[in-house]
Amino acid sequence: MKTLINEYRIQTRISEMAEEIDGYYYGQDWYRHTNEPVIVIGILSGAIFFMADLVRQLSIRTKLDFIRASSYPGETIIAKELKITDAPILPLRDAHVLLIDDIFDTGNTLRATKELLTWSSSKDIKTTVLLRKPDKAPSDITIDFVGFDIPDKFVIGYGLDYDGEYRKLSYIATLE
Ligand code: 5GP
Ligand code: MG
Repeated sequence: MKTLINEYRIQTRISEMAEEIDGYYYGQDWYRHTNEPVIVIGILSGAIFFMADLVRQLSIRTKLDFIRASSYPGETIIAKELKITDAPILPLRDAHVLLIDDIFDTGNTLRATKELLTWSSSKDIKTTVLLRKPDKAPSDITIDFVGFDIPDKFVIGYGLDYDGEYRKLSYIATLE
């Protein structure tokens, strides 16, 4: 195991991202006029720590909800078919949504969850991930707020697992 991004760098970057995200919403006419909360939706399980740390740094109004998306259980080095097993509970019609995931790799997870939210007639869907593997990032879907671009290696920690383990690490590491 080798540390790729330590805890300090993660937390510093999250503070910067929170400022960016606040800045984006405070700059929106609808937010200034309606002051409606942004529905922050985390994709379980990987997004839990990133979401928890990010939302506590945001000063915009928020409500929190979750989507559970998973590939088949087992070792997750090979990309498998994605299933959305739990949908959000909050009403999303005309909502402004900020979708949070741990990592953007092939883009399948964010593509599928964004589609699900589009069917629920959300007004505006922004996306944020802590990590992105730019070598593989598809061009048909863009992420609005990215923490770090990383090399195309399998990483663990800070929500990311290997066979269900290592999520609780407070840093990102490569598994070798
Ligand atoms: P995508 O659907 O964009 O290919 O991948 C997103 C999901 O695949 C992530 O939410 C994560 O669960 C898993 N994933 C992709 N790359 C990695 C990685 O390097 N390490 C781990 N642990 N999971 C990954
Ligand atoms: Mg995931």
